[in-house]
Amino acid sequence: MTMNTNNQSPECRSSRDYMALEEKYGAHNYHPLPVVLHRGEDIYVWDVEGCKYFDFLSSYSAVNQGHCHPRIVAALKEQADTLCLTSRAFYSDALCEYEEFMHRFFGYDRILPMNTGAEGVETALKLARRWGAVKKGIPNDRIKVVCCEGNFHGRTVTVITMSNDPSSYDKYGPLTPGFIRIPYNDPEALRRVLETQADEICAFIAEPIQGEAGVFVPDDGYLKTCYDLCHAHNVLFIADEVQTGIARTGRMLCSEHDGVRPDIVILGKALGGGVLPVSACLADDDIMLNIRPGEHGSTFGGFPLAARVAVEALKVVQDEHLVENAERMGQIFREEVKKIQSPFIEQVRGRGLLNAIVTRPVAGRTAWDICIRMMEKGLLAKPTHDHIIRFAPPLTITEKALRQAIDIIRSTFEEMSN
Ligand SMILES: *Cc1c(COP(=O)(O)O)cnc(C)c1O
Repeated sequence: MTMNTNNQSPECRSSRDYMALEEKYGAHNYHPLPVVLHRGEDIYVWDVEGCKYFDFLSSYSAVNQGHCHPRIVAALKEQADTLCLTSRAFYSDALCEYEEFMHRFFGYDRILPMNTGAEGVETALKLARRWGAVKKGIPNDRIKVVCCEGNFHGRTVTVITMSNDPSSYDKYGPLTPGFIRIPYNDPEALRRVLETQADEICAFIAEPIQGEAGVFVPDDGYLKTCYDLCHAHNVLFIADEVQTGIARTGRMLCSEHDGVRPDIVILGKALGGGVLPVSACLADDDIMLNIRPGEHGSTFGGFPLAARVAVEALKVVQDEHLVENAERMGQIFREEVKKIQSPFIEQVRGRGLLNAIVTRPVAGRTAWDICIRMMEKGLLAKPTHDHIIRFAPPLTITEKALRQAIDIIRSTFEEMSN
C-alpha cells in the first residue's frame, strides 16, 4: 500500500494512511496500538474500516458511562447552544448548580473545579501546602508532601517530581523540591516519616489503587491506617481518585473500600462523562478557604459546558446503578479470568471493573503481542509497564457482553500458549 496522502481524498484513507499521518506530523509522545478509531457507542468502538471492538481501556477510565452516552451528549449539546464559556470573572448558573450538586453528592463543603487530572493534583498540592503554611505554621520553604513509589499523578513538572519512573521525569529537570517518597502499601514507612518529620509535612498523597503501576491493589486497611496516622500527626490525607473514582472499583470512591473519607479528594477522567476534560478537588472549609480570590484559578475550570456535563455524568452513574454493576461484573470477570489456563498468566487482580492480568513472557511473546492478538479478535486493551494488561471496560457493560469479551480473552491466551 502506498502512503501518498497528497492526492487522496479523506474518504478513502485507510487506517495505515492515518497512522502514517500521525507518524509524520504528530509528536511521538505515545505508542498506540495500531487501530484507528472513528466512532464509539456505549462499550464499543469502530475503526475507520468499520470493524467493531470491545473497548476494555475506556480511555484510562474516563469513559465509565460508555461512549457518547445519549444523556451526557444531550446535556453537552443543550448547554453548547446556550452558553459555553464565561471565565470565572462572572458567575454562571451552570457552575453554581454544579457546586451545589457536588456538595450534596459527595458531602464535602466545597469544590474547586479544574480541567485535567494533573491540574487537579496540582491544585490539591497547593491546597495542602497553603493549609500547611496557614494552619500549621510551616515556613514556606520547608513544607513537604509525602508521596508513594510507583505513583502516577500526571505529567506537569511538579507532578512528575513525585514519580520514580525515569521515563516520566528524566531530563525534565530541575524538578520541584518538597517531596518525600516512601514505598506504597507500607504503613510503617509512613509512620516512620511522620514520627520524625511531621512538623514540616502538610500532606500524604496516594492513589487508593495504583492504576498506571498496573492496577496494584494495596492490602485491606492500608488506606485506613495511613489516614489514622496522618490525623494523629496533623497531616492531610489526599486521595488521587482520578482513575479509581466515579464507580470504577465498585464504590463511588475507591477510598470507601477502606471506610476512609479523605481530607482532599481529586477527581477527573470519568467526571467529564467521556466527552470533556473535567477535574476537581473536594475539601471542607478548613482547607478550601485558605485560598482567596486571585490566588489560584483556571480560565476554563468549571466552565458552563463542563459543569452541565459533570452533573449529567454523575446522574447517569447513579440512575444506571453503575457502582453496583461495576462490583458485580468485576467479580464475574476475576472469577472467569482466573480459570484460564495459560503459562502467560502470572496473576489476576483488581477491584470492581479496574482489573489487570500480570503476564510473563513465553517464547519471546509479550503482553504487547497478546494485546495485538486480542485486537485482531475484536477487543482493545493496552499493556502498562510492559507485562501488565489492564482490563477496564465502560461500567455499563452487561453480563452477556462481558462473557463474550471474556471468551475473546480466554481464546487469545489459549491460542498464544499453543
Ligand atoms: C490519569 C491520571 C491523572 C492525570 O490525569 P490527566 O487528565 O491525564 O492529566 C492523575 N492521577 C491519576 C491517578 C490518573 O490515573
